[in-house]
Amino acid sequence: MYVTLEPLMSVSEKSLTHEHVPCPFCGLLCDDLQIRIANGDIKIIAGGCTRSENGFATTGDDSPRIAGETVTLDLAINHAAELLGNARRPLIGGLETDVRGMRAALALADRIGAALDHTHGENLQRNLRVLQDRGWITTTLSEVRNRADLIVVLGSALFTSFPRLVERIFAPPTTMVDDALQNRRLIVLGGRSDWPVPETQIPLEYIPAPMESMGEIVSVLRCLIDERPIQAATVAGMNIDSLQPLAERIRQASYGVMIWSTGALKGDHPDLTVQCISELITDLNREQRFAGLPLAAGDGDVSAYQACTWQTGYPLRVDLASGKPVYDPYHLSTARALADGADALLWVSSFDTTHEPPDTTVPTVVLGRNGMQMTREPEVFIPVGVPGLNHAGTVFRGDAVVSLPLRQLVDSSLPAAAEVVQAIRTRIESQEVPC
Ligand code: SF4
Repeated sequence: MYVTLEPLMSVSEKSLTHEHVPCPFCGLLCDDLQIRIANGDIKIIAGGCTRSENGFATTGDDSPRIAGETVTLDLAINHAAELLGNARRPLIGGLETDVRGMRAALALADRIGAALDHTHGENLQRNLRVLQDRGWITTTLSEVRNRADLIVVLGSALFTSFPRLVERIFAPPTTMVDDALQNRRLIVLGGRSDWPVPETQIPLEYIPAPMESMGEIVSVLRCLIDERPIQAATVAGMNIDSLQPLAERIRQASYGVMIWSTGALKGDHPDLTVQCISELITDLNREQRFAGLPLAAGDGDVSAYQACTWQTGYPLRVDLASGKPVYDPYHLSTARALADGADALLWVSSFDTTHEPPDTTVPTVVLGRNGMQMTREPEVFIPVGVPGLNHAGTVFRGDAVVSLPLRQLVDSSLPAAAEVVQAIRTRIESQEVPC
């Protein structure tokens, strides 16, 4: 039996200039790129950054493989279906795909009784734990852009992870509120001091601080703002008095925002740091307006947990083996599930060729971006298209409030991850492969 995949929409590859192109390669999801395509070459003319230039560059060989040997797509799907259909404790990881890909992964997980986790699952759970336990007060990228008068960034690494954060959000050319930029101030607390300082018209101040102690530093800041007595002169090697001007600025802000990405929060318990930040913000809101903005990394992480939440009630790290969703954010991490007896892994990575599956002897099926470099050749490798480049799709932005449609920019023979996952499920359901 042969699997027929739906043909992709045809797009002319003659010289074409695309305006307002959304970029799927980080959580900012900038939608202002101008891209020219001539004879298959993609050039970003306006907007963009180094990360997007790498992302839109086409790469690699489009051939599926079984144990390193080139095979047809049908054979690869057959083999993947056999491997996953016969597994007793399958795991679907990576999940770096769009909403359609995630829905297909959930349907397959339901069919074969798999657990699900994302590449950035650990970072996602650090925020979600606080949201589940206590709730929080957060805002959106649009609100920050249009209203904030004080922006406190925890860790300079955010400027590397989200390269156009300053240009697009902190100091944009225009805002919806006329004088929003006039009194805006940007303060960076912690991170490497040798980060490339973004060019910006708004005043920027850098306060050196160790990221691994951010929880203690934010707790002290909370005491200073609240004018509570502190029985110490230093915190994490910093003189506590050096935090007093920041405490004062936060108290005076009309619309202050504190921004973090859990990937940049170091130390043993970044979730406790997020809790400290959240409690500080709750305190401030008794007398003024102040919000948090946790930024998710991208690679489809928010799309994955949103789709998983609306379909199962839980935000990933959920196991469908018993016929109903079981949520376990500790034991269902990719690393622990593999160590605890997962016997087959389906790894989905559609955006980044460097996001290979974990090094494991568990039989692995990889649906990856073509040109993916892997330390260990998987049992099955099926190249898939990039949402927003090879096929259309929908992904959520890093502030988790907006989903954007992505366009197909080039003709491609590469199937979408959703199509391959669905084909694997159909093959399993065809009763050739017992579950
Ligand atoms: S900042 Fe992120 S979304 Fe914007 S162009 Fe660069 S990689 Fe793309």
